[in-house]
Amino acid sequence: MDKNIRIAIIGGGPAGLSAGMYLEQKGYTNYSILEKSARVGGKCWSPRYNGRRYEMGAIMGVPSYYAVEDVEKFCGITHDGPKLNRNYKNSRGKVIEPFEPKKNLLKIPRLLKMKKQVKLFGELLETKYKGYDVNGHRGVAEGRYDGYAVTPGREKVEGVNENLKDLALPFKTFCEKNGVELVQDIWIGPYTSFGYGYFDEIPAAYVLKYLDFQTTMNFVKVNLWTWEQGTQWIWEQLNDHIMHPARVNSEISKVERRDGKVFITVNGKVEEYDKVIVTAPLYVADGNMGNNNGMVDYFDAREDELELFSKIDYERYTVQAVTTEPKDHPEISYYVFDNMVKERLGHLMVYYRRWKDSIDQVITTYALRTHKDMEEVPYDKCNEMVLEDLKIMHNPAKEVVNAWSVYYFPHISCEDYAAGWYDKVEAMQGKYDTFYAGEIMAFGDMDETAEYSRELVERFF
Ligand SMILES: Cc1cc2nc3c(=O)[nH]c(=O)nc-3n(C[C@H](O)[C@H](O)[C@H](O)COP(=O)(O)OP(=O)(O)OC[C@H]3O[C@@H](n4cnc5c(N)ncnc54)[C@H](O)[C@@H]3O)c2cc1C
Repeated sequence: MDKNIRIAIIGGGPAGLSAGMYLEQKGYTNYSILEKSARVGGKCWSPRYNGRRYEMGAIMGVPSYYAVEDVEKFCGITHDGPKLNRNYKNSRGKVIEPFEPKKNLLKIPRLLKMKKQVKLFGELLETKYKGYDVNGHRGVAEGRYDGYAVTPGREKVEGVNENLKDLALPFKTFCEKNGVELVQDIWIGPYTSFGYGYFDEIPAAYVLKYLDFQTTMNFVKVNLWTWEQGTQWIWEQLNDHIMHPARVNSEISKVERRDGKVFITVNGKVEEYDKVIVTAPLYVADGNMGNNNGMVDYFDAREDELELFSKIDYERYTVQAVTTEPKDHPEISYYVFDNMVKERLGHLMVYYRRWKDSIDQVITTYALRTHKDMEEVPYDKCNEMVLEDLKIMHNPAKEVVNAWSVYYFPHISCEDYAAGWYDKVEAMQGKYDTFYAGEIMAFGDMDETAEYSRELVERFF
């Protein structure tokens, strides 16, 4: 492709900013990042309280965050944040140690069985499901893998593996089919409580591309990365180091693709480009986010785009930042496994104390409001339920200082996954001088989205 082409990137979150970085590194310098809001970082949102930054969005990474590491190297920064740690409580607020055999004598047989199954699962993923962990979803529904390995060198790998079709099954069914149902006890912590839905509804592909074996073990060992100035700072740094920082407050009212060009109306003025990369939401299923229906609203959306993107669903993940009286401040972060089941939809699943050395800080709380078989828990009601739960946990809130329920983890159903949704969308890449990136194309975390942008640039530019 001609290195001088004019490329518009819609969205200044991790996907959009890293697309700019990778394009630039490949010699494409004529790009413009159009960001609707007044700041960069998207769902990496690290506001300040009492002189320090806390996290309303992304919190952590693992050592296999190679794309985030690319960004760190590009900017000369590193993950220098507070060390994470956590304990566990039951839904009545009692501290428990669910994985400690000596504290759970009756559960010893189950714990031993679980340990065996985790080992077996690791072996199955390496052998029967070879290729399961490459970034993106190309070919999976057809029993193929085609992408880049999750290694520092990101070798290109491709091959046929009929077993990969199983990844379209709900993760629960996938585990049962492989005789390893107890591994869910380990995977659920960094999955459901992190807002990515429930194992009986979400395709195993999403669970395992994010929580590949190595990543899950890093969570178990709490071998995690954080950033002192927050995850938003990573993207602010990147924005400061790329040739063309994002143009914040860019309101796009229209995108028209004709005659091999892309015309984008930004703040009332038409700009001409050759290609557009969309990292902003492709579709917002039900108008739940105000008037925003995603790109199909402001693009001259074609029938195939409408048809495919209307299949996208997302999670309603709710975060509150609260202060407490000094005596009520939790000594550490807590997971509440009892609340990570659909019967407890809307309840507090995890709460996060970021700063060990200060109690004059906020803690953040996390709850999910949707499951495909259940009525959505309204936002205000969910927030109230979480505040009630904090009382039960013996850490009542004094004041809520921040809250949001965000368009989170866009994904498709098991049925659409099995029917080849991803291969249909991948076949459309570039068709209307348009490329689709961001969370839906890989998975809703910082690294998978940035990695997908890297691959997109690698494949098409
Ligand atoms: C509570 C929470 C906890 C999380 N925890 C973690 C974690 O610990 N680790 C991790 O790796 N990830 C975590 N994530 C997920 C991670 O933040 C996202 O997956 C990542 O930010 C996605 O990047 P993105 O660029 O695809 O999308 P986004 O971050 O959503 O960025 C999209 C950008 O596009 C902009 N935009 C939208 N519409 C338009 C438009 N019409 N025109 C122009 N711009 C537009 C938005 O303003 C936004 O800046 C968490 C997220 C949340 C909310």
